[in-house]
Amino acid sequence: MSTRAPADLPDLSQYGHLAEYRRKRRFDVTPEPLPRLHRQMRGAKALEFVVQKHRAGHLHYDVRLEHEGVMLSWAVPKGPSLDPSVKRLAMETEPHPMDYNQFEGVIPEGEYGGGTVMIWDRGTWWPEVDDVARAYAKGRLKLRLEGKKLKGSWALVRTRGPRQWLMIKHADEHASTEDVTVTKPQSVVSRRTLAGIARAAGASPRQLEQAAAADPPREARAVRTRASRPTSSPTPAITQAARSIRRASAPTRHRSA
Ligand code: MN
Repeated sequence: MSTRAPADLPDLSQYGHLAEYRRKRRFDVTPEPLPRLHRQMRGAKALEFVVQKHRAGHLHYDVRLEHEGVMLSWAVPKGPSLDPSVKRLAMETEPHPMDYNQFEGVIPEGEYGGGTVMIWDRGTWWPEVDDVARAYAKGRLKLRLEGKKLKGSWALVRTRGPRQWLMIKHADEHASTEDVTVTKPQSVVSRRTLAGIARAAGASPRQLEQAAAADPPREARAVRTRASRPTSSPTPAITQAARSIRRASAPTRHRSA
């Protein structure tokens, strides 16, 4: 990440909630949208949400919720889980412009967040709190999502420091043990894989390789889709994890002298 002296920075006050978004990016280099504040009639339209799968330095899923003309944003390293017993770490990041909801492509190498971005899910959201600004400030936001992959009731709860939250599915008819990041890995807009997006946008060989590695293997998708149906036996993923744990904890044999 490039750092510039504060003296080089323009006056950012006009960007309001998007000042940090503006500060981190060079818009003559990155294809990401300009930090334009979105002004619309309040209550005229349902609130937008988007989840972008992003292979930057590390793979993560950017969960964004429309609020007062910008997208409040959290980076969820493992992606959302439909299982209410699973709490997913969600690091709060800078609010993004609403135009970002259309962005699918490649951020150039060396730029902030350099790597491939997929529109993994999108739709509308409803707060399940009276006052979103207050709930966000307090770090306890309850919400309902109506996307293609994510539906039903969720919570975002701040746990530690100003930026660390957890994203948790509430128990409802949309809860499931299906790993939706594996069973539904494609773009809801273009149906492309992350590698397909990287290739089309002219990613560097390294970025293309990283994008391909972030797509679940085809056979894993098929196996886990079958395994995600209600069953009493452990899923292959769990069995495999248990096996590698057993391997890792097996006593080391010492070489006989
Ligand atoms: Mn990101």
